[in-house]
Amino acid sequence: MLTLRTRLVLVNVLVFFLTFVVLAALLAGQLIFHLYEQFDRELVRVSMPALEHVRPVSGTLTLRDPEGRLMAELGEGGFARVLDAQGNVVEGVGDYHAAPVIQRTLAPASNGVIGNQRLDSGRVVRVYTRPLTAPFDTRAAVLGYLQVGKVPEEVLEIIAQIQRSLLIALPVALLVVGIAVLWAARKALLPLTEMTRGAAAISADSLADRRLPIPRAKDEIQALALAFNATLDRLAAAFARQRRFTADASHELRTPITAILGQAELALSRPRTPDAYQESLHRIEDEAQRMQRLVGRMLTLARAEGGQQVLEFVPTDTVALLRTLTETLSAQHEGAGISFVLDLPADLTIVTDADCLTQILLNLLENAVAYAGDGAVDVALQVEGAGVRIQVSDSGPGIDPASLPHIFEPFYRVDPSRQRQSGGVGLGLALAHELAGLLGGRLEAANRAEGGAQFTLHLPLKPPAGASAAPGI
Ligand code: ADP
Repeated sequence: MLTLRTRLVLVNVLVFFLTFVVLAALLAGQLIFHLYEQFDRELVRVSMPALEHVRPVSGTLTLRDPEGRLMAELGEGGFARVLDAQGNVVEGVGDYHAAPVIQRTLAPASNGVIGNQRLDSGRVVRVYTRPLTAPFDTRAAVLGYLQVGKVPEEVLEIIAQIQRSLLIALPVALLVVGIAVLWAARKALLPLTEMTRGAAAISADSLADRRLPIPRAKDEIQALALAFNATLDRLAAAFARQRRFTADASHELRTPITAILGQAELALSRPRTPDAYQESLHRIEDEAQRMQRLVGRMLTLARAEGGQQVLEFVPTDTVALLRTLTETLSAQHEGAGISFVLDLPADLTIVTDADCLTQILLNLLENAVAYAGDGAVDVALQVEGAGVRIQVSDSGPGIDPASLPHIFEPFYRVDPSRQRQSGGVGLGLALAHELAGLLGGRLEAANRAEGGAQFTLHLPLKPPAGASAAPGI
């Protein structure tokens, strides 16, 4: 497995290598092409006077360079020669035997052909081949060919020089690029290494106070570190909540268990009358029921928090539901002086999970009844935007402002002594808050200006995207 750094270096060096080679080939190719163009023009110019000296003498072609001017121009290794129409060498000057005749260069129709020819000695000669026709011959019958060869020494030297330079420059450039990329990659990835080390050192115990180092550069790695730390914050909060929940739950469970054990021990301490036994059993039953309620709510809350609550979104008439719940509660608290004041439209149907909504509303209404004393409980339902707003307000003492931010925490109670008397376990609002979220809404708590608490439940008309909807909805 290659490390990220190695891969970065390899890819960069490879891309650089390819770019370098292509660019060098293009530039060198262009330069060599121009050099040969220049050389060829010169070769043609040099061969012009020779063309005038080629004369058919008694039917054969002869080449003359009496003053050696042609050879002076062609230099060492150069030559000039005439060939007959079949390509046989007739006559020449200079090193003209060294270059074998290449038949395909003998093209009668052309103005001349120029090409490199490698000799047996290894030397390269550039040869210009030109067909010869008799002057004023309208049929342009080819009498033979003039060939002029010259060693393109300067061009070859420049090519060799380019090759030498590239052979040195390429490895050096690759090395420099490799080192630079390695350095940059190491510098860029160093924070990652530190983050890995930091992350490895974080355990469940150090989750609360250990965070990853944040790199100074505002880049993707810094964003990653920030996101990771934010995740750790959320995890730490969830962990703390979980710990508190477990501690509170154990504490809550201990109270009824102690009461049950106390009652049982008391009843068993000496023989008693059947009435006394019955009374003890009733107390035990009360406490057991309290425990059952507590455990039931804990389970529901755990399921809701863990996203395991199965929701079935169906059209639900909220007005009818509120009427049924308030009527039931009125009947239960008959004679307690509680009165519900309803402010509801004729009907209002939303798509939601009816069981969840019932649990939330029942909780709010039961609390309102419990705290309102003998006052009135107002229940209002209104459409707001793409949702509805259900408000349950009472005329009780309200909620201590310092407690408002904590009111939805599990086991939170403003006044524990009073709560225990009323049989509450401090999980109702936490559960209602969690369920409201599951339904795509939210639950808010406030105090009314005129006194008393007010709980507002906001719910969407339709379930949120991604919620598990019942088939057909
Ligand atoms: P429980 O299940 O014990 O009723 P809740 O979670 O419903 O507990 O309520 C938590 C706390 O919120 C209670 O201890 C109480 O102090 C406070 N509370 C809830 N409803 C009201 C209200 N209508 N008026 C005043 N205080 C309230």
